[in-house]
Amino acid sequence: MRKSGPVEIVRPKDLREASSLVREGGMPLAGGTDVFVRVRKGLWDPPFLVYIGELPQLRGIEPREGGVEVGAAVTHAELLRSPLAAQLPVLRLALSTIGAPAIREMGTIGGNVANASPAGDSLIPLYLLEARVNLVGPEGERSLPMEDFILGPGKTALRPGEIIRSLWIPFPEGKPLPYFRKVGRRRALVIAVASLGALFWLRDGVVEKARLALGSVAPTVLRPREVEKALLGKPLDPGLLRPIADELSRLVNPISDIRATAAYRRRVAGNLLLDAAARLPRA
Ligand SMILES: Cc1cc2nc3c(=O)[nH]c(=O)nc-3n(C[C@H](O)[C@H](O)[C@H](O)COP(=O)(O)OP(=O)(O)OC[C@H]3O[C@@H](n4cnc5c(N)ncnc54)[C@H](O)[C@@H]3O)c2cc1C
Repeated sequence: MRKSGPVEIVRPKDLREASSLVREGGMPLAGGTDVFVRVRKGLWDPPFLVYIGELPQLRGIEPREGGVEVGAAVTHAELLRSPLAAQLPVLRLALSTIGAPAIREMGTIGGNVANASPAGDSLIPLYLLEARVNLVGPEGERSLPMEDFILGPGKTALRPGEIIRSLWIPFPEGKPLPYFRKVGRRRALVIAVASLGALFWLRDGVVEKARLALGSVAPTVLRPREVEKALLGKPLDPGLLRPIADELSRLVNPISDIRATAAYRRRVAGNLLLDAAARLPRA
């Protein structure tokens, strides 16, 4: 692997300057937990880095009608400490599994989303909560649903000069039961072999509505809508949900890599649904 030399870091004074520096070829730098690792390994070789981590326009956690707007440079730890996150328990469950405390203090939600890793842990609650990605660039602002922003592993809809400004996270209706679990090969600093996040709305002991999102079992985080529909009217009983878990295992599209085989990931995906059913209250 090639080792690259030192790379210059430029500090723009505002978002407009940041965007024009990125347009010129600079790579945004927020917490640096991915950028520094990959530049040091020679995997990335940007002409220069544009430090956006302290731009005030990217730093707020603002309550808005029906949800919360989270600046792209807000760290996982800041979001976990925010009283607003208490209203989004599935987000808290997922963020608290990211890296170790030091990584959560440095790493940002915008960096995690821009990475577009199928194993990115914040992506799962953002898909579940049907968040939107607010972008700012040379042609102004635009907003995309998460599913349209993430195009594949490491691929996003970012245009030249565009930066993620914030994430719009709507509060879900009612009080759905939240679930998040990632399975990895170690207890600490786990990169998911497979992960499942879910929201279940129950009425009279059966599922009235369900949203599922899986990580590391397809090129992007996956919302298996057929399985969400199949769960309607069913109680959260692992015995009864076995056929639906098998359907989920068939539906995912994982790869084999150094962490796990595709067959193992398929099995884990189905088992995670049964685990959710076993752990959550049934009424
Ligand atoms: C030891 C270790 C453990 C980790 N564990 C986990 C884990 O458990 N789960 C997990 O999901 N991740 C994990 N990560 C990965 C990483 O910490 C997260 O992806 C983090 O959220 C990245 O945020 P950052 O601010 O550090 O990004 P940076 O490293 O600053 O940037 C990452 C990428 O995003 C781009 N970018 C950053 N901000 C923006 C923006 N506002 N607009 C456009 N592009 C932007 C950068 O140009 C770069 O391409 C781990 C990393 C390490 C080193």
